[in-house]
Amino acid sequence: MLRSEYDWGVEGREAGGGEAGRGNSGRGSRRGGGTPSSAMGTHESGPRSWLWARRGGDAEELGEERPGVLGEKVLSVAKALSIQAHPDKELAKTLNKTHPDIYKDPNHKPEMAVAITEFKALCGFISTEELKDVLSSVPEIRELVGPDDASKVMDIKEKDTDEKVKPVLQSIFTKLMSADKDTVSGLVLKLRSRLTEESKTRNLNEKEELALLLEKQYPSDIGVISSFFFNYVKLNPGEALYIGANEPHAYISGECVECMATSDNVVRAGLTPKYRDVHTLCSMLTYKQGFPEILQGTPINPYISRYTPPFDEFEVDHLMLPSGESVAVPASQGPSR
Ligand SMILES: [Zn+2]
Repeated sequence: MLRSEYDWGVEGREAGGGEAGRGNSGRGSRRGGGTPSSAMGTHESGPRSWLWARRGGDAEELGEERPGVLGEKVLSVAKALSIQAHPDKELAKTLNKTHPDIYKDPNHKPEMAVAITEFKALCGFISTEELKDVLSSVPEIRELVGPDDASKVMDIKEKDTDEKVKPVLQSIFTKLMSADKDTVSGLVLKLRSRLTEESKTRNLNEKEELALLLEKQYPSDIGVISSFFFNYVKLNPGEALYIGANEPHAYISGECVECMATSDNVVRAGLTPKYRDVHTLCSMLTYKQGFPEILQGTPINPYISRYTPPFDEFEVDHLMLPSGESVAVPASQGPSR
């Protein structure tokens, strides 16, 4: 496959800080000056690291549909970002046609976050076993979902196929996300006081701690409650998480380099003051369950690791050089833009 280096680079010091990621919450900042053709670690700065995306896909294969550019930014997340999903190509076209004011382009937006510091995110739905636990241990969710739907989840058997499980998950998630404002704020308050009370006599689990944190950031938001439905992902520096089309996710905290095909199509439904499109979000999701894949990066030489997500638009190389070392960066194999 023909790959082309793309002309961006994020340059920053390794290990928690330095220059990278000085943006404000949710804001991106651009650093560095393009893909290095050779690189050198200097004594003054200690080990240095660069990240850059290589666009995947054969020029011919991509044809007219190839996205013009890749986007990248350093995200420094101090306050959780919205619960969102990005539409696949087909849905992006439809949304752009029907609601061009909200969905401004017909492109999809595969996305990958490479952690610079410890990076926390919610991504994808938890397993059925975990969902049963949530329904037993979070009375506020049971109350919102109602006894009939709750027992549909409790009745799911291990041998049940995805076709059987997904509609159940979709139905309770939609019910939760569509609940009216007053019901939601009442239940969020209830959840907060219960957890605050219980924290005096037992250690809260990490999802409960997270719910309390989200409640501080977004009081009365349904995202506080629906966070229990998602996998809580913690990336170490150098680990990466990719987000497929129609997968729910929310970045919680930490610094990452976010790489994406350029598109502004974001369907939001919680933890946000922005426009919420609950109906579109709940109907577009894949309802795939289970913990997402974490990419560790495959070494392609002693200094460079490559992250290859399962989509064609891009892959990302991470170069880290110890002080005083230098390396020639593998050349691009040919132009594809
Ligand atoms: Zn996203």
